[in-house]
Amino acid sequence: MTDQALIGLIGGMSWESSAQYYRLINEAVRARRGGVASARTLMWSFDFAEIEALQHQGRWPELSRRLADAARALEAGGADFLVLCTNTMHREADSIEAAVRIPLLHIADPTAEAIKAAGLTRVGLLGTAFTMEQAFYRGRLDTRHGLEVLVPEADDRRAVHEIIYNELVAGQVLDTSREVYRGVIARLVERGAQAIILGCTEIMLLVSQADSAVPLFDTTSLHAMAAVEMALRQPA
Ligand code: GLU
Repeated sequence: MTDQALIGLIGGMSWESSAQYYRLINEAVRARRGGVASARTLMWSFDFAEIEALQHQGRWPELSRRLADAARALEAGGADFLVLCTNTMHREADSIEAAVRIPLLHIADPTAEAIKAAGLTRVGLLGTAFTMEQAFYRGRLDTRHGLEVLVPEADDRRAVHEIIYNELVAGQVLDTSREVYRGVIARLVERGAQAIILGCTEIMLLVSQADSAVPLFDTTSLHAMAAVEMALRQPA
């Protein structure tokens, strides 16, 4: 008998952010339950070198198959629900949902709920080029949650994407890149963004509220906190 659901984490995309999920989830359970309480989790962790290559080759069906296999393995291991620790790979969320009976806690939903709760409607989105440019993420924020989404102009999108793939997923956090992000955020604010979504799970390693004139909504923290809420609400 246990009073927490078992959280199935699909991670390694990259492990730098999966480590943040693991820390945030455990800190939140300890804060809520006290003492030495910690979260019940299972993590599947991919080799990001393989994932990154498949993404840039556009081999989404292969990525989808690998995610579905990971989801099934976590379900077979007893996970009660799934948390996919990356925004980008939510492109394949439907395949994961189709592969298992347990629910997937979609990263865009707790993020959008927090933005709406703050009374904001027009948001700037930072993430990989896949997340900023394809419909799967912006579409959910727009059609499901009624948010107006602004993305950076092309040069800024390229810089944001390259800093993620060349530095952040490799554990490099550079002041020069923080300056680049500060500029991108400022230009989104000039265009009317009332808030900024850190829509890549590593950006929180680089950017903090001090770098933005408008509120930041960090998908890593919001997703991790939503996972804790769900785990504590659903005893296994
Ligand atoms: N973790 C990042 C994200 O949230 C990028 C790495 C990936 O492509 O999975 O989108």
